[in-house]
Amino acid sequence: MARFIFVTGGVVSSLGKGLAGAALASLLQARGYKVRMRKLDPYINVDPGTMNPYEHGECYVTDDGAETDLDLGHYERFTGVASKQSDNVTTGRIYQTVIRKERRGDYLGATVQVIPHITNAIKEFATADIEDEDFVLVEIGGTVGDIESLPFMEAIRQLGNELRNNAIFIHLTLVPYIAAAGELKTKPTQHSVKELRSIGIQPDILLCRSEQPIPAGQRAKIGQFCNVAPEAVIQALDVRTIYEVPLSYHKEGFDDAVLNAFGIEDAPEPDLSKWEDIVDRCINPDGEVSIAVVGKYIELQDAYKSLSESLIHGGIANKVKVNVDWIESEVFEQNEEALSERLTGVHAILVPGGFGERGAEGKIKAASYARINKIPYFGICYGMQMAVIEGCRSLGGLPNAGTSEFGNFDPNVVGIMTEWTKGNETETRSADGDLGGTMRLGAYPCDLLEGTQAREIYGEAQVHERHRHRYEVNIAYRDILEKAGYKFSGLSPHGDLPEIVEITDHPWFIGVQFHPELKSKPFEPHPLFESFIKAALDHSRLV
Ligand code: GLN
Repeated sequence: MARFIFVTGGVVSSLGKGLAGAALASLLQARGYKVRMRKLDPYINVDPGTMNPYEHGECYVTDDGAETDLDLGHYERFTGVASKQSDNVTTGRIYQTVIRKERRGDYLGATVQVIPHITNAIKEFATADIEDEDFVLVEIGGTVGDIESLPFMEAIRQLGNELRNNAIFIHLTLVPYIAAAGELKTKPTQHSVKELRSIGIQPDILLCRSEQPIPAGQRAKIGQFCNVAPEAVIQALDVRTIYEVPLSYHKEGFDDAVLNAFGIEDAPEPDLSKWEDIVDRCINPDGEVSIAVVGKYIELQDAYKSLSESLIHGGIANKVKVNVDWIESEVFEQNEEALSERLTGVHAILVPGGFGERGAEGKIKAASYARINKIPYFGICYGMQMAVIEGCRSLGGLPNAGTSEFGNFDPNVVGIMTEWTKGNETETRSADGDLGGTMRLGAYPCDLLEGTQAREIYGEAQVHERHRHRYEVNIAYRDILEKAGYKFSGLSPHGDLPEIVEITDHPWFIGVQFHPELKSKPFEPHPLFESFIKAALDHSRLV
C-alpha cells in the first residue's frame, strides 16, 4: 500500500512548495523508492488552460494532454516520472464532477454538501489511479488560512485519520530574519501551525524556509510550540541552484525525518551522485553563452518556467552557464534599429510559444534577423509558425503570408486545419462556445526524415513530443519552402502535419511545432536544447 505525504504551506505564498515536494520525492527515489506526485489546486478554473500566463505562470502539459499547474513541471524535472491527468485537480473540476453527478441523480435525492460530497470527491481524486508506488506526495496549493483551500484541508485531515500510519503531514513555513532586531522570528511559524491545528491537522514535519541558518535552540523552540519533534524541524536555506535543493535537504535530515515519521528503519542510503554532478556542472561551468528569448510574457519568468529550466539543462549538458536576455518582441515592431541593438552579440535567439497578435510581427523580425545573420535560431510552436511565415514572405514569393490566428492573409500559411480541409472555417471554439480544451494537446508521434539535422540531433527515427496549440503550418506550402532552402524534417506519421522545419544552409535554424521544454530534465537534457546550446557556444567563438 502506498504511503501518503501531504504538503501544505503557511505564512506566505511563493515559498516553493512544489519544489520542496519535488526535491523530497527525488530523495526518496534516490533511496530506491517509487514515487508519484500530485497537486490539489484551490482555484475555481477547471484547469489552468484558460488562464493568462501573467496570472498563473506557465500551463504545463502532460503526455496524456492535461493542462496543469506548473508545479507538475518541477515534479517531472526532479523525478523523471511523467505526470498524468490524474495528478492535478482544481476546486472547479471537483465541483464540476459533483454537480454533474447531482444532475444525473446519482445522489438519490440527498442534499449535496461540501462535507461529505465535495470532500469525498477530493479524497477519491487524491487516492485514485495509484499503481505500485511506495510514496504519493500530495501538495495542496495556496496557504493555510485561505478560504478556498478549506475543503482540501478537511479532505486531507480525514485521509490522515483513515490512512493512519500510512500518512504524514509536512508544513512549509517561513522563518524571517528581521534585520533591525538582528533576529530570526519564529512567531509566524507558530501562528501558521496553530491555524493548521485548528482545522485538525497536526504537522509531523516542519520545513522552515530561511535566509539565515536557524540555530538548534530556535528549532527546538519551534518544535516545542508546534508540538513537533526538534529533529523534525528542518531548515531550508537558500541554495545556489534549485538542483542543489535535494542535496541541501538531505544534509538537513529531511528524508530521514520523513522515513522516521513513517517508522521506516531499514531504508537504504540515497545515491545522490546524479545531483552532485548536476550541481557541479551548474556552479563550475567552463564558459557561458547568452541567449535572447524574444517573447511576450517576459516580465513574469514563471510564464516560461519549463523553457528557462530547459535552457539551463542545455547548459548542464555542455557545462556552460546560460545567460538569458528576455526581450519583449514588440520592441522590434516599433523600431528597426532595436534588432541590431538588442541582438548583436547574442549567441543564439529563441522565440517561444505564444498566442495572439500582440508582438507577432516582432517575432517574425527576430526570425528574419537570425536567418540572415546566421545566428542559431530555435522557434518553439508559435516561434516555428513565425519562422515559416517569415520564410514564405522573404523567400517564397508570398509577401502577404500570415496566420489566420490574427487575420485573413493572402495566403494563410498557418491556420486551423479545417480551413484547408473543409473550406474557410475559422471557428476555434467548441459548439457551445467553450474555449477550454480546444487545442491539440499532449504527446503525438513525429517521424524524423533521414539525412536531416533533426534526425541527427535526436538519433532516432520517431519521437513523441507534447503539443499545445490550435493552429498548424499548412503542408501545402512545403514545396515552396523546400525550394527556398527549408526542409520539413519532422512530420506527423500521416505526413500531413509539419512538426519540424529547418534551414539547410544555416548553422542551426530549427522550428518545432511541439514543446520540447516540457520533457527536458537536468539529468536528461532534451537533445534539442543540448544541441541548441552547443550551437550557441560554437557561435560565441565566432563573434
Ligand atoms: N498560438 C499558436 C497556436 O495556437 C501557437 C501556440 C503555442 O505557441 N503554444 O497554434
